[in-house]
Parts: sequence; structure tokens; C-alpha cells
Amino acid sequence: KTLFERLEAQPADALLALIALSRADTRPDKIDLGVGVYRDAAGNTPILRAVKAAERVLIETQDTKTYLGSAGDERFVELIKPIVFGAQAAPNDAIVGVQTPGGCGALRLGAELIRVAGGGARIFVGQPTWPNHMPLIGSAGVPIVQYPYYDPRSRTVLFDAMMDALEGANAGDVVLLHGCCHNPTGADLDLNQWRAVADLVSRRGLVPFVDLAYQGLGNGLEEDAAGTRLVVEAADQALVAQSCDKNFGLYRERTGALFAKGTSAKNAQIILGNLLGLARTSWSMPPDHGAAVVRIILDTPELAADWRAELREMLARIRELRARIAAADPRLAYIDDQNGMFSILPLTPDQVLELRAAHGIYVAGSGRFNVAGLSDDNVDRFAAAVLSFLP
Ligand code: PMP
Repeated sequence: KTLFERLEAQPADALLALIALSRADTRPDKIDLGVGVYRDAAGNTPILRAVKAAERVLIETQDTKTYLGSAGDERFVELIKPIVFGAQAAPNDAIVGVQTPGGCGALRLGAELIRVAGGGARIFVGQPTWPNHMPLIGSAGVPIVQYPYYDPRSRTVLFDAMMDALEGANAGDVVLLHGCCHNPTGADLDLNQWRAVADLVSRRGLVPFVDLAYQGLGNGLEEDAAGTRLVVEAADQALVAQSCDKNFGLYRERTGALFAKGTSAKNAQIILGNLLGLARTSWSMPPDHGAAVVRIILDTPELAADWRAELREMLARIRELRARIAAADPRLAYIDDQNGMFSILPLTPDQVLELRAAHGIYVAGSGRFNVAGLSDDNVDRFAAAVLSFLP
């Protein structure tokens, strides 16, 4: 066999297959809740007003396309830092950051940094988690240990089991945490639980690695960063993978950043040097457009205010849909206690198929559905269809 003939066929991505299935369904009232992008009431994923405005400015004012370097747009990173860590913590020079190709790039770069740092560090990953977490992080070659996080049947965070599992971590082991809007469950830790996790990472010398991909879409920009700030503050060392792809609606522009907290400003500079070296050997430099757009927005008070306002509109729509689903029946009340774009329906795989066949409602095989895929005129039908399966 030749080189490429030795390759094995790969299974199609389950979620992409689901999108194709839904597209092929000709029923006019079908509901596609598979894909993980925000949708407005009309079912569109709009370009935000501030993004359009900043793109116009960029076209008019950008005068070169020359290379920026492996750190990407440094001003972008500087402007995102206080949004993630809070205005007080942002000047902390033990925290450094680089622009990355989206949250995925940040997660991968963080995992590479952990591998390079060596010492047998493992990454603890909660179950269930976003399906791309394990392959994305695992490909860097760091051993992964799973910890229990959520039980879709009882619709509860398995906090005690999670803490027990994390007690088994060694100093220097890394704990992957969803900063807010847990994907796929929507179930976030409450502030007391975050405090307990912060105590634990500090007491045992663990390194939190926070995935913050939906800041502003749970309960608000500040609220959604509260847990991240608690654990980063408590830990000597930490990583945060940040994404602008959802909260600025930039998806395909691949816009994000990786932040790292070192034990001192000097240590942070060494971390930074390593991150730049690792970026150089993978994507060399991150794509510019999305980060330039975010930089212009955050550097222009009117655009920044309009971005915050439109983000609040998206948030309000998600919260309202959650409240309406929850109001339909006590068995769905948990939906309103959860955050962000996703929650899991307590359905078996067969029931998920039946939901498609009988009702034209498309959710992932796990029962995960995109709340923002619903609209005012189908949310009640959705709730009724789901309830028809519940005991
Ligand atoms: N983390 C989580 C939990 C996600 O759901 C996503 C996107 N679906 C990402 C990270 C990565 O986002 P992106 O690379 O598109 O910025």
C-alpha cells in the first residue's frame, strides 16, 4: 500500500451529519437544534452591528497586511484581559496572553504548554464535556483523567463525586473547567462550588485550565467570569482559553486568546516565550481579521457600548427561551437553572430519533439541544413534544 492508501476512513462528524439530516427534512415546521451557533428570533446568525461597523473602519484604515508575529494582535490581548480577569486583576504582570485561532487554538496551545513543561502532569477532564475537548487536548500527548461532572438523568452536577476525583490529583496536575455555559449540559457550578474548587486547587497545588468560550451568554459578562476569577486568583498557576467566536459572533474568523498565570512576572515571561515558540511551530501566527475587529470595537467607546448592548440582547433572548421551556412543566424546570446555549434533554437515543421522526425536532444523539435555535412560535410545541416522552 502507498502512503495515503494506508489511511483509514474516518467517521463523519456526528453534528455535521445531523445538520445535513435536518436540511434534507422538507417539513416546513421542522426545528433544527443541533448546530451550536446563536440564532436570533428569525432563525439567523447575524453579524453583530459593532462587528459590521468595525469591519468598515478596518477596511478604510488598515494600511498593511504585513506579519504581526506569533503573539498576534497584542492590543487585542490587552483589551480582552480585563474582560476575563476584571479591571483590578488585569494589570497583574504574572498573567500573560497570546492571540490564538479561536478557543480551539487556545485549548490546544495550553495543552502543548503542559506537555512541554513535563513533570508527568495530567489533565483532569469532566464528563460529559464538549466532544472536541478530549481529541483536541489529547492530541498534544498529555495523559487525560476523567472526572464525573453531570448526570443527565437526575439533571444534577455531581459535585461531591467531582471533588472526590480531584482530591486524587497530584500537585501540578491540571483541571479543565468550563468557565460558564457548560457545553453540552448548561449546568454550571454555583459560586459556593467555585469557591470550594478554588480552595482545592490552592490547597493541592493544582493548575486550573478554564475554557471560557461563552462569556456574556450565561448571565452577563461579569457574572460569567466570576468562577474563572476565583480559581485563577486562588491558584499559583493557571490557564484560560478564551474565545470571541460566540460573544462577538465571529465564529469562522477564529478569534481567541490563551492566558497563562505564572508564579511571578519573570516566570510569566518565560511562559510567554514558550507559548510563542509553540505557536510558531503550529500555525506560526493567528489569523488577524477577527482580532483586529474586536480590537477596534473595544478601543472605540461607542462600538464597545453597542457590542455590550447587543450581547445583552442575545443573552436576554436565551434567558427568555429558557424561562418559557421551564414554565411549560416542572419536569423541564431545570432548563431555567442552566446557562448558555445548550442543555441536555433526559431522552434515550431512541427517543431522540423519535423526536426527529415524529416531530421534526433535531437534537444531538446525547439529547443536547441549542436553546437559541428555538423561536417564540415553536418553543411551546418543542416543550410539548419533549414532555410526551417524559414519565
Ligand atoms: N470550548 C467550548 C466548550 C466550545 O463549545 C467551543 C466551540 N464550540 C470552543 C471551546 C471553541 O470555540 P472556537 O474555537 O470556535 O472559538
